[in-house]
Amino acid sequence: MFNKKLVDTRTQPVARTGDAAPRFSDSDLYSLAEKHGTPYFLVDEATLRKKVSEMEQGFSEYKGVFRVAYSVKANFNPSVIKAFASEGILFDLTAPSELTFVLKSGGSAENVMYTSITETASEYEQVLKAGVRKVVVASYNGLVNLAEAAARANIKVKTMIRVNPEVHVHAELRGSMGHGKFGLQFNGGSPDSALYVLKKILGTPLLGFEGFHFHLGSQIEDPACYAEAIEKLEAFILGARRQLGDFRVSTLDIGGGLPVPYGRKVPTPKDLGTKIVGQLNSLVESIGDRFTLVAESGRFLTAESTVLVTRVVNVKSFGDTKYIYVDAGYNVLLDSALLRHEYPVEVVPGGRPSPQKIALVGRLCDPLDVFPISSRSKLGGASVGKLVVFREVGAYSLVMNMPFHSQPRPPVLMRNGQGSYFVARKAHDVEKLYADEGGDCLPS
Ligand SMILES: *Cc1c(COP(=O)(O)O)cnc(C)c1O
Repeated sequence: MFNKKLVDTRTQPVARTGDAAPRFSDSDLYSLAEKHGTPYFLVDEATLRKKVSEMEQGFSEYKGVFRVAYSVKANFNPSVIKAFASEGILFDLTAPSELTFVLKSGGSAENVMYTSITETASEYEQVLKAGVRKVVVASYNGLVNLAEAAARANIKVKTMIRVNPEVHVHAELRGSMGHGKFGLQFNGGSPDSALYVLKKILGTPLLGFEGFHFHLGSQIEDPACYAEAIEKLEAFILGARRQLGDFRVSTLDIGGGLPVPYGRKVPTPKDLGTKIVGQLNSLVESIGDRFTLVAESGRFLTAESTVLVTRVVNVKSFGDTKYIYVDAGYNVLLDSALLRHEYPVEVVPGGRPSPQKIALVGRLCDPLDVFPISSRSKLGGASVGKLVVFREVGAYSLVMNMPFHSQPRPPVLMRNGQGSYFVARKAHDVEKLYADEGGDCLPS
């Protein structure tokens, strides 16, 4: 079933990685491998910062204030959070434990937008007491719980409503279309609708109404869905004002979903901005509120900053295919197995394209542990001892590392703005892994 994914290196074009993709010299990659072993993740801090400014530039024509938010779930490494915190951006969080990470890594509660899935009164009380003031609700129960928490803590909350605009989303991962898990319908005819929840917020003194939020999906390659969602939201706001009287919209959060190249051509923040900023500026006119515009990204802000460096440990011919075995598996890149997600992959140093087909396989004893590789990858010249670099792996990868096959977690290294390298997450060693997995529960 994986044969489709095998690369015929005779016709392989040059990989095209994102413009922002950091370059690490071959000698740096080898000396870090020497010092820390393989596999290791390597993050470039300058790229994290560059992605923030790319988003800001994309929306520079917006006539109100535009703010970038970082969805911490994509990569909660403390050094990554710290870099974003020093940029002064907002944080999109879903759990009190994420708030702990942000606060301990230099972020401040006042820059948090708290968007829970569980929406319990106790978690709301916990985050309000820790200083969070902006909360996004997405169910009627959630609203009741927030009101209860606000009353218990006697704290006034800027309350946003997460709507699910039910638009068609052309994306790798869909957060909106056909999926009712997230957000409220505009007019569902039950208390679980944006109109009803808005009415309750306007009638609850401790809940100040702040604005609206939607999140359409991840890796959105056609920005048309944003335009459609904004259009539906505008109609809703104007209709709701006729029914409920005037209310101010102070913030509009258009969610995440900005795509990452992964070696292909995808829309940039500038492309998205060109498509929707005019519409957002008209929305400001039509509703008469110069709202703060927020875009919250996880994947876009982190993916390109990071590479995974592995080493070829074995090669084998089988029929017309050359199998390249590396010392990592889907335990470190889970979505390559789950979603058949393709990263641009390169042998370092590169060599002449192999006359054979190539299969890149991991070290796990599991048939799923075959890395999907695309025509963008450059795997010619692979031999035992060489490094194989997976690019653009900074999002949804190291946060999903797992110890399958008793594999200790690899270290995360980082290059800071001055160009020096430091350890941003220590490797698990096998002794620690053994203890964590229950070794320390055995009677001595
Ligand atoms: C996951 C998530 C994001 C980030 O999505 P990306 O595709 O990584 O940009 C933003 N907002 C919400 C509510 C999310 O759940």
